[in-house]
Amino acid sequence: MTGTPVRLDLSSPSRGPRGKPPKHFVDLTPEQRIEAVTELGEKPFRAKQLATHYFTHLTNDPALMTDLPKATRDKLVEGLFPQLLTAHRTQTADKGTTVKTLWHLFDGAKVESVLMRYANRTTLCVSSQAGCGLACSFCATGQLGLTRNLSTAEIVEQVRAAARSLADGEVPGGPTRLSNVVFMGMGEPLANYKSVMETVRRLVAPAPDGLGMSARNVTVSTVGMVPAMDRLAKEGIPVTLALSLHAPDDELRSELVPVNTRWSVDEALDSAHRYFEITGRRVSIEYALIRDINDHAWRADLLGEKLNARGRGWVHCNPIPLNPTPGSKWTASDPRVEQEFVARLRAHGIPTTIRDTRGSEIDGACGQLAAEEDE
Ligand code: SAH
Repeated sequence: MTGTPVRLDLSSPSRGPRGKPPKHFVDLTPEQRIEAVTELGEKPFRAKQLATHYFTHLTNDPALMTDLPKATRDKLVEGLFPQLLTAHRTQTADKGTTVKTLWHLFDGAKVESVLMRYANRTTLCVSSQAGCGLACSFCATGQLGLTRNLSTAEIVEQVRAAARSLADGEVPGGPTRLSNVVFMGMGEPLANYKSVMETVRRLVAPAPDGLGMSARNVTVSTVGMVPAMDRLAKEGIPVTLALSLHAPDDELRSELVPVNTRWSVDEALDSAHRYFEITGRRVSIEYALIRDINDHAWRADLLGEKLNARGRGWVHCNPIPLNPTPGSKWTASDPRVEQEFVARLRAHGIPTTIRDTRGSEIDGACGQLAAEEDE
């Protein structure tokens, strides 16, 4: 056997070391999966069979793995597929086509994911961290603080569960496939770089080693962690990058997005532009429109100027009306002000589309995820 030996603690599959999530098949590279299967006393080709069940049939249920002898599949699933996520509650909106799931993780940490079905695509919004450490003032998750990073398998399991639910026809409109994944749930994906990047690899790897999704249909959204953005640009996987800007001037942005004191508006925009130059992928600028806070016409003009100063055709803007979070004094911009903001950006030649606020009535829209429970 070639490759690096894997150190898996197979003695207690339901607990990982020092509070880390237990190692899961999905955390392993294809070579390491072969290694792990062999360590359990099984033939190397079983790794491919397991990968096919997981990524193609979207299952980890040994009862469905009928091409493996019963004893073999029981042993492999027990050793390599610890249960990482338990659906604690689901809520639906938009006639069942928006589904928010509250997951309990192995250690009691909680995260949410939101599945949205549209006419021509299906999008899953995944969480990459339990809580978030970046404290953006208008974001519900930002008020929680950071509990911990999710492992690769904890993120991929959110995706598998959604893809399975769509394949099983659980979302109105008939069975379908999951087409898009956005890292816009709880957490800052670039603050959990390694697990997020491994997740991206699993999403885009062709079957049976991954879900075979198109990189352009995967969006990584960031507050603007410049070194990590630059690193992402060089990974050779042209995912869509979204930069959560929310203000074109440092004075206001540092209030809304505190990490701006570390990497300024200009530094974040320069890095976003480098991302475009290296990957050829148009970058999205996210801008939550907050009434009388950041929705002034002059700010739209300043944003348009700053984007154009770096080139043409490299960016598009996604303003979204603020989804108010509990206890916040802020609210969404007046629709006329929103229209004016959009018109100004377009006048500067910036392609601009208002993002929808799907799921807001189940607190499932952008920035509303806080994993609250009824009890
Ligand atoms: N940490 C990452 C991804 C999670 S948030 C990031 O900041 O990009 C996903 C998107 O929702 C970001 O663009 C974020 O700025 C936005 N958002 C957060 N709170 C919001 C709110 N209350 N209303 C509208 N959008 C919000």
